[in-house]
Order: sequence, then C-alpha cells, then structure tokens
Amino acid sequence: MFLDSIALTRTLPCLAEPGKIIVIGKPNRSLADVLPYLATLPGIIAYNPEAHTLTFRRPAGFMTLYVDRVYITQLTNADEGLTLLAALKDAINATWDYREQLTAVTQARHAPHPLDVWTLLPQTNCKQCGEATCMAFAVGLLQHKRSVIECPPLHADEALTDRRATLEAMF
Ligand code: SF4
Repeated sequence: MFLDSIALTRTLPCLAEPGKIIVIGKPNRSLADVLPYLATLPGIIAYNPEAHTLTFRRPAGFMTLYVDRVYITQLTNADEGLTLLAALKDAINATWDYREQLTAVTQARHAPHPLDVWTLLPQTNCKQCGEATCMAFAVGLLQHKRSVIECPPLHADEALTDRRATLEAMF
C-alpha cells in the first residue's frame, strides 16, 4: 500500500460550472514516486515529470495531482469530493501494488484538445492577453506561442485557482 489517506483540506466555488465546487485534497505522503506509474493510466491529458504534475479528464471537469495536493473540479458537494478522494486513494494504491507490471512514464505527455484548454480559461474574451478570443489564446497555448501567465484574469481571482493549476500542469 502506498497511501493511507487523502484528506479533504479545502473547497472553492467552481466558476467553470456555477453551483459546483472544487475540492482540494492532501495525501498523507508525497506522490512523487507513484506519479510515473499513474501516468500509464487512461484519461491522461497532461503529465509533466519535471514538475511532478498529472492531469486526468473526468466525465465533467478535471483531476490534477501534484506531489502534495490534488484538485478535483466540478463536484456537486463535499461528500462527492470525499468519495472521489477515497476512490483516488484506492486507485493509487492499486497502481502502486501493480507497478512491476507497468512501465513508468518518464517523458512528458501532452494531449489536450483546444476545447479542453478553452474550458479552463475564463471564457470572457476580454482581450487582455492580446488575442481576440479565449479560444485563440487556447490555440496559442497549444502551439507554445503563449504562456498561461499572459492571461491576467486567470491570476487575479482565487476562484480560478483550479483552472490555473490545471493549465500550469498542462503547459
Ligand atoms: S486574457 Fe484570458 S480571459 Fe481574456 S481573452 Fe485572453 S485568455 Fe480570455
């Protein structure tokens, strides 16, 4: 077994889906050693082995893992967050137990679609980044012509923490 628990430490409003929340969890030990094995699982849209970040696509929203925290977006309530954090702990332990059958991923993986990226932007088309639309900025990110820090609204509002964290994990 790798982990004993992932504690729910905080919730935030989820601006991507009004009425939904973001749950932030804290594992009882660093995830650094297990992330390369978790990166073999389906549903990965970004893995950065240098930054130790891994993002999964969920049916709605995203789940981003860092060594010391987990963000899950678009949840209905804290109880759903607790259920998902418990399921994630079990998935991490199962992956760790079977790691000898897996090939650890050592290269960055980066497979988001423009719509994935756009979903994480503020979607206001405010033009502060110099692009006419958030979709144009999303394409610029995917082409590595733009960087996440160039979207000021994303860094001005704590309620966008989850989206910024996920985008930073992707890029
Ligand atoms: S600054 Fe951000 S919110 Fe404004 S248009 Fe650019 S990407 Fe969209």
